[in-house]
Amino acid sequence: MFDKRKLILAAVITLVGVLAGCGNNQPVPVVVPTAEALQSALPQATATQTTAVPSEVQAATTVAPAPAQTAVPTPVATPEAKPTPTKTPAPTTLPSVPKSNKLVMIDPGHQRVGNNAPEQVGPDTRETKAKVSSGTVGVRTKKPEYVLNLEVSLLLKDELVRRGINVAMTRETHDVDISNKQRADMANEAGAALVVRIHADGDASASTKGFSVLYPSAAQPAVKPIAAESKQAAGFLLAGMQQATGSKGRGLSARDDLSGFNWSKVPVALVEIGFMTNPEEDELMSEVAYQQKLAVGIADGIEQFVNGK
Ligand SMILES: [Zn+2]
Repeated sequence: MFDKRKLILAAVITLVGVLAGCGNNQPVPVVVPTAEALQSALPQATATQTTAVPSEVQAATTVAPAPAQTAVPTPVATPEAKPTPTKTPAPTTLPSVPKSNKLVMIDPGHQRVGNNAPEQVGPDTRETKAKVSSGTVGVRTKKPEYVLNLEVSLLLKDELVRRGINVAMTRETHDVDISNKQRADMANEAGAALVVRIHADGDASASTKGFSVLYPSAAQPAVKPIAAESKQAAGFLLAGMQQATGSKGRGLSARDDLSGFNWSKVPVALVEIGFMTNPEEDELMSEVAYQQKLAVGIADGIEQFVNGK
């Protein structure tokens, strides 16, 4: 495992050297062969590396195609894993040229297999909810929500990286087991400037449609410190999506019942991109061109919030 890691690091260092050589004439940063040093060194590199620098995970996939699950930390939690805050799965960090050093965490909602074990809804309540569900499903596409959420989240990630914004993801695969509290913990520990949770809606009525943006209600004492900023971010996200799609959407909604909000110590908003129970919107949300519009609109809102901080 050690040798494999050294090999990966050597390959990444070489890649950094090659890329720095073709971008500008700055000396290649001396990289101490630790993952931490590598992570902190990468964002200082040149603009040409914005999309080219691989994350640790991607480097491992490229250099060592053999299963590298034990060599590289991934956000995959084993089913036995207890949600100890310090053992929270490491988010996939995507080094880029930072416009600022502020980190944006994207949380693609749900996962392939839900986890119905109870989890406290927040520090202020003894109420519990399922750790994480697998979400709704497209009435016409039959696509599970967790798939749609990740499709849009990956486009959003690309859009943010293109703009030089630091991005981390709570998951980049469906086969994870990360509760909503754990997702909040990941962002807390990363010190994210903003968390954007990507979801799609469902309703008993097939005619209900439109995107909306949720933010944590200040009625929960624990979220008071982040309530105002979260609401501001939600407003920017909604305006960005309205601009990008030409639709008004359903507006903003304050929520006090979401574990992923109540455990957050950093500003957070949740985008419901539309209703999978509405046949037309279900199909529309699976069109890449529309997904890209959503990604651009959400990125516009994120950029406005992060730059204003
Ligand atoms: Zn959802």
